Amino acid sequence: MTNNAIEIRGLQKTYKGGRGTPAKHALKGVDLTVPAGKIFGLLGPNGAGKSTMINIMAGLVNKSSGTVKIWGFDQDENPRQSRAAIGVMPQELNLDPFFTPRGALEVQAGLYGVPKHQRQSDDILRMVGLSDKAEAYARTLSGGMQRRLLLGKALVHQPQVLVLDEPTAGVDIELRQMLWSNIRRLNEERGVTVILTTHYLEEAEEMCDEIAIINHGEVVARDSTANLLGQVDSKCMVIDPVAPVETLPSAPGIEVTRRGDGRIALTYQARETSAEDVLGAVRAAGIAIADVKTEQADLEDVFLQLTKST
Ligand code: ADP
Ligand code: MG
Repeated sequence: MTNNAIEIRGLQKTYKGGRGTPAKHALKGVDLTVPAGKIFGLLGPNGAGKSTMINIMAGLVNKSSGTVKIWGFDQDENPRQSRAAIGVMPQELNLDPFFTPRGALEVQAGLYGVPKHQRQSDDILRMVGLSDKAEAYARTLSGGMQRRLLLGKALVHQPQVLVLDEPTAGVDIELRQMLWSNIRRLNEERGVTVILTTHYLEEAEEMCDEIAIINHGEVVARDSTANLLGQVDSKCMVIDPVAPVETLPSAPGIEVTRRGDGRIALTYQARETSAEDVLGAVRAAGIAIADVKTEQADLEDVFLQLTKST
């Protein structure tokens, strides 16, 4: 047994340059520990090094230096055990167009040496909602279905650690909800440790117990989600008025802007100003509210705030 699902020490990756492109130092000595049983978020902007890290864990990219332990097994000393402990859903769709979902799962199970009687292709197809597409060619599946099949493929050998690289980038809300609930179930019912990368702060907030933020190949923050988000205090309430607004609300601590579509955006610091204060200012300006929603601070805000203080 181990308490850490992943232990990464001094991980470096330099991609060799070629024909006019310079070498790229994509990971600059990353240390990262992911406790077993968590849903862990790896956040960062495009090009930060998230996929490089994940592909190294998956054994798809060779590291330049450092150590990677998966479920207690050092990748170099125990390659077979460390590979068996991890399942990876890659960022890119990489399915063979001539395989069916069932065929793809069976081939993957074969690659991992899962004996026929232990295979769970039907269960996995059901879980990812592809039972009725079990015999369809992968090239006929929608992008969302192909993503779900990639999730299924990552599960065939029942890994203790499941790694998802941007699982919901560009997918519709329904599919996102389905992926989220599948991932939660795996974590809660089977105790699978989940590591996911995402652009979406909202996704990290909803899903992840702990978060590391990576930028330019370095971990710049690592904390519980609550602690990290607690540092981002800025909130935005958007009001859809019943009638066009002539005079904007005005109150201390609230920044008011008019949007092109006639809605009014009110930005405030949650520590100093409550949602009730904001609504009060709107009412005081005589504005009748047709609809209201709050917008999340996005990853960029977190970044700006986190990197400012370091
Ligand atoms: P992320 O997943 O966070 O967007 P990546 O790990 O894909 O970031 O990329 C990190 C950096 O390494 C980027 O600058 C990217 O251009 C570069 N990179 C990624 N893969 C390769 C590769 N195969 N060859 C050269 N450079 C690469
Ligand atoms: Mg990536």
